[in-house]
Amino acid sequence: MPLDADRAWEMDAVLTGAELRALIDAVYPIEELPREPSATARVFRFSDGRGEIGFIDPVSDPFCSDCNRIRLTAEGKLRTCLFSLHETDLREPLRAGAGDDELERIVREAVWRKELKHHVGEAGFRQPARSMSAIGG
Ligand code: SF4
Repeated sequence: MPLDADRAWEMDAVLTGAELRALIDAVYPIEELPREPSATARVFRFSDGRGEIGFIDPVSDPFCSDCNRIRLTAEGKLRTCLFSLHETDLREPLRAGAGDDELERIVREAVWRKELKHHVGEAGFRQPARSMSAIGG
């Protein structure tokens, strides 16, 4: 995903999940298992019964439509998407003495504005300033 610190990620260099699966399937046949709601990974089992393998393909096979994840950074910023360009500050209200009701209101408002999808690969896409390791991804 284009969340790398050195911003060297390029769509042209992406090997898609489908391409990877085809390479594996040609040697070790795999079969897809039912997907759990909001799961990030598509899980396949090897047809010989010797294990499973999961693929997380957020760019080539997005799963944003049922994403239920939000993240809290180490300094108290709530992020509603890995690709959020804005964050909701919880530290300041906490330090100002906000109670549970007020914090709940802030979190609910942020979640109502949760992104419907990422826009990787679309015209105008802007990579967030923080790298994956700073987001808690
Ligand atoms: S890109 Fe954003 S909306 Fe899509 S799955 Fe990741 S965190 Fe969820």
